[in-house]
Amino acid sequence: MEIHRMNILVLNCGSSSLKYQLINMQDESVVAKGQIERIGAKDAILKYKPTDKSKQSITQVLEIKDHNVAISLVINTLLDKQNGVIANKSEISGIGHRVVHGGEEFIESVLITSAVKDGVRHCIQFAPLHNPHNLKGIEVCEEQLPGVPQVAVFDTAFHHTLPPKAHIYAIPLEFYKNDRIRRYGFHGTSHGFVARVAADHVGRPIEELKIITCHLGNGSSITAVQGGNSIETSMGFTPLEGLVMGTRCGDIDPALVLHLAKLKNLTVEQVDSLLNKKSGMIGLTEGKSDFRDIEDEAMAGNEKYILALEIFCHRLKKYIGAYSAVMGGLDILVFTAGIGERSPYCRNIILANMEYLGISFDPAKNEKNEFEIGTGPVRVLVIPTNEELAIARDTRKILAALK
Ligand code: ADP
Repeated sequence: MEIHRMNILVLNCGSSSLKYQLINMQDESVVAKGQIERIGAKDAILKYKPTDKSKQSITQVLEIKDHNVAISLVINTLLDKQNGVIANKSEISGIGHRVVHGGEEFIESVLITSAVKDGVRHCIQFAPLHNPHNLKGIEVCEEQLPGVPQVAVFDTAFHHTLPPKAHIYAIPLEFYKNDRIRRYGFHGTSHGFVARVAADHVGRPIEELKIITCHLGNGSSITAVQGGNSIETSMGFTPLEGLVMGTRCGDIDPALVLHLAKLKNLTVEQVDSLLNKKSGMIGLTEGKSDFRDIEDEAMAGNEKYILALEIFCHRLKKYIGAYSAVMGGLDILVFTAGIGERSPYCRNIILANMEYLGISFDPAKNEKNEFEIGTGPVRVLVIPTNEELAIARDTRKILAALK
């Protein structure tokens, strides 16, 4: 049978939000996309945007009790007679789920079976805020789209190649041996995607290249990709480690955790919230985590915001140096995600005075967010990430192997 259109539904289920895209794998075009925010609230928001301009986008505020209701709303919207994009559920050939933590077990994307669900459940201990909701999404789809194959794409999988010297923490070894406490790394789908785009762009096999990928969004991480493999990455056992982020502190002296807990008489939960939700840019600026707002203030001369951006960029520059040292050189430096793709301000600070490493850039091209902004031996690229497409491609590959 000839298939004219192969639609893959990509789902990213969070605790109170759900992002979705329906992608036609025939030409990798987005058929429709959207998101649901505030699942569990009376005033949840459903957003739907079909690509076909003859159909209408929808933004609706309504009560969405749980993930069951959220996913059935997504499916019904896609099926809607007037503004929908499919006539029948059977037009969804497969579902690709973003799953945050795959532990040491999942080193690549897999077809979801009951054993895989058990594996995802087992990893809840490592990602208690994410994996339960990813699993819920999988189970709801099983009920609502029975028989449609589902694939899990793990945020940690690309980093499974980290060598032990990069992934084992210098704490008693028993914690690694018995409890699997180690660096896992996250944003793997994005780092892997942009590294491959970068290698294609320079027209050299990825196996020969030393690449650093900077994923700078609400959460940020940096990865050293050598020979096509992740060999170092800044997020660790959890996404808290590494770069300064919107609301996360990144690297700090671990003794600070103990000191703060004692000094302010904080519970474990309060410390967790302090470092994950109240630190980073929102902590430094005393209220803002969106880089557009922070840059506006900085450009107006507000010292507090200038300093916050300097701290963010300084941390990243430190990592670029470290990862170049670890790889013994650098061929390509990639910037991606919201800030990486659209902040000339930050790239300007990060890339300054790096000629010694072979990094220089064209300020005019940087200002315009051009794809290639480097002028020295190190190619400096600004590459839009597309995690949904990467998830859809893996899903298609696994479905093809089923035939
Ligand atoms: P997420 O990590 O949630 O996927 P994104 O990759 O979309 O997030 O990145 C969100 C971040 O990108 C926010 O801090 C936002 O302020 C920043 N951002 C988006 N557009 C711009 C821009 N034009 N200039 C500077 N920062 C931007």
